[in-house]
Amino acid sequence: MNPQLSPGFLKDLRRPEYTGDNRCLPCTAVNLVLAAALTAAAAVVSPPAAVAVALVSLASIYLRGYLVPGTPELTRRHLPERVLAWFGKSEPRAPVAGTDFDVVSFLDRAAVVVDDGEDVALAPEFQTRLEAAARDLDGEAATRAAAAELLDVDADRLSFVADDAAWRVLLDGSILGRWESRAAFVTDLAADRALAAWSEEWASVPGDARGRTLSAIRACLEACPVCGGEIRLGTESVRSCCREYEVVAATCRGCDARLFETDARAVASVE
Ligand SMILES: [Zn+2]
Repeated sequence: MNPQLSPGFLKDLRRPEYTGDNRCLPCTAVNLVLAAALTAAAAVVSPPAAVAVALVSLASIYLRGYLVPGTPELTRRHLPERVLAWFGKSEPRAPVAGTDFDVVSFLDRAAVVVDDGEDVALAPEFQTRLEAAARDLDGEAATRAAAAELLDVDADRLSFVADDAAWRVLLDGSILGRWESRAAFVTDLAADRALAAWSEEWASVPGDARGRTLSAIRACLEACPVCGGEIRLGTESVRSCCREYEVVAATCRGCDARLFETDARAVASVE
């Protein structure tokens, strides 16, 4: 629809928190089934009424993300985990899926982390280099240039969108990746730079294992590479559109940025 021709009331009806990138596929599917049932019921009484019901239902789902208020709650309660899995909303699998590259043994072999028997932490020298790289990259122009270099694209094709729960990186307007915060993204850029200088093996780490390696480094942080603040580790309950789950989260006490977050059940299944 041409936005200039779109009546103002459509804008008022639109619910961006449930549409566009935020549209929940399970909720939309449940609503389409409800819309079909309502239309069929109306058709028994009057075919023209059924057409009107269908149009109003579809417009509501398109604009608002749902037809029946409260469907996110219904979906959360009643759609089985198996069905949510079809839409990518199930519990994450153990993080070994997809590749057999062992992130932990790489970090160990490259002496990026030290294991004191009780806990795994970044080697102090690596932490120092990571902080130095993060200082260099912390700034709109520097972050953009480093991201463009890492992704091998022109810097002006990249854009960034922040909200209170995520930092999204877009290429030509399409979402390329999501990070916990801007600080988490800067940390990944800095860790990539530090690793390239630290370990010859980093250049040959497969693409899909790189993201996991950078996340693992963020999970080991004791200080925020961006502001130097202390990292607080804890669990909390996060509610997405149609389910609620526990996460393990690392948050900076200094700048309040979320540096790392993972589903608590994924952590439990590794231990
Ligand atoms: Zn911080």
